[in-house]
Amino acid sequence: MNRPERFRPPSVDEILRSGEGALAIARHGRAETTRAVRQVLERMRQGEAPRLGAAGAIARDALEALERRGQPSQRPVINLTGTVLHTNLGRALLAEEAIEAVVAAMRAPTNLEYEVGAGQRGERDAHVRGLIRELTGAEDAVLVNNNASAVLLVLNTLARDREAVVSRGELIEIGGAFRMPDIMGRAGAILREVGTTNRTHLKDYAEAIGPDTGLLLKVHTSNYVVQGFTAEVAPAELAKLARAHDLPFVDDLGSGTLVDLARWGLRHEKTVQDALQGGADLVTFSGDKLLGGPQAGIVAGRGDLIARLARNPLKRALRLDKLRLAALEATLRLYRDPDRLAERLPTLRLFTRKAGELHALAERLRPRLAAALGAGWAVETIACASQIGSGALPLETLPSAGLAIRPSGKASGAAVEALAAAFRAVPLPVIGRIAQGALVFDLRCLEDESSLAAQLAELKPGGRDGLA
Ligand SMILES: *Cc1c(COP(=O)(O)O)cnc(C)c1O
Repeated sequence: MNRPERFRPPSVDEILRSGEGALAIARHGRAETTRAVRQVLERMRQGEAPRLGAAGAIARDALEALERRGQPSQRPVINLTGTVLHTNLGRALLAEEAIEAVVAAMRAPTNLEYEVGAGQRGERDAHVRGLIRELTGAEDAVLVNNNASAVLLVLNTLARDREAVVSRGELIEIGGAFRMPDIMGRAGAILREVGTTNRTHLKDYAEAIGPDTGLLLKVHTSNYVVQGFTAEVAPAELAKLARAHDLPFVDDLGSGTLVDLARWGLRHEKTVQDALQGGADLVTFSGDKLLGGPQAGIVAGRGDLIARLARNPLKRALRLDKLRLAALEATLRLYRDPDRLAERLPTLRLFTRKAGELHALAERLRPRLAAALGAGWAVETIACASQIGSGALPLETLPSAGLAIRPSGKASGAAVEALAAAFRAVPLPVIGRIAQGALVFDLRCLEDESSLAAQLAELKPGGRDGLA
């Protein structure tokens, strides 16, 4: 019988006394290091890891395990997907002004709910209500956790046990299981669908209105477009109908921009101001989509309705914390100076980067990437199309440039998958996308090219499946 040789490793003490052991203790403490060393020894004993003889080598294994475990779960990545407001990658990046405001609010007590002048209790939303009024012309506003919460709060306040009338063409599902009918159910509102998927007329709404109606709702079809033989009712007409029946008309804008994007050569997206001028009594929108701020839900509109929303106990459950209020206030302040908005607001800055600039960036990076990958891969500068993301302007793409990486010889799709995995395995994971057999890096969101260059040195060509 083949008996495995007895394993006689150095003692735990000896391992801890090695240089690497001392380093691990300095970084992670004696208790954690001892535990990690014992785990390494156990794996060696079980034959799950090569049996190392040297104390230093065993300590190094333990240190590596500790470092891996010490890495924060949520950490920065490089977004080369070409989708600017990527929900899975955290949507909008904050402006420096917003970041500074958050840091200041974290470090010290603030007047979150305190009127410093009067020396009395104040309201947290007061810090941004004025700005929203000023920027949108709304009478008042209320702030909650995100736009899903905003819709929930509106429906629960104005249409609980009553009907919310909405077109069948607008019963949206957006990523992360936000389905309008489900939210309505949870809000206690009864969904009253009208019209058909492609065509809804004013008379469909009019016929649905009865004693049980709570409100009329228009939902921005954020992530799709109904094309062809279609009809939808203009918001102004819906507003008139709602007013005639003394019902609130709510417009869920989703993304909600405060500026005309056409100013920067992008397609015009209905603004919050447009929606309010179009007769919406309440408009709901997100803080971290086109607005470019922190996650937040904003309801802006008629003062009496906002007051009702603010009194709903759900508002307390959905309220914003001081950090996000600080970030939102600082972000909104930037809108007072539209001339400099594209410089200061990262979302808009990324939207407005020109394909030519991105092409030049791709050309600079291409040889470095090619050198890092070696002869097994061909790296090519390509024109591509970035997306806005987060369901804003779903069909609008931005002319962009990037790099496409393909196996230079005959290779399977698995090789490209493995390469994508290797790029994700570096300390600052590089996230691209795979298209037509190539790993594609859209460079629109790469503002710090040295960060990507630094990751190239960390690529492990000998990784599990190898890069070549
Ligand atoms: C994005 C979106 C929502 C949800 O907003 P969150 O801020 O992600 O909660 C709701 N309605 C519409 C139309 C949207 O586009």
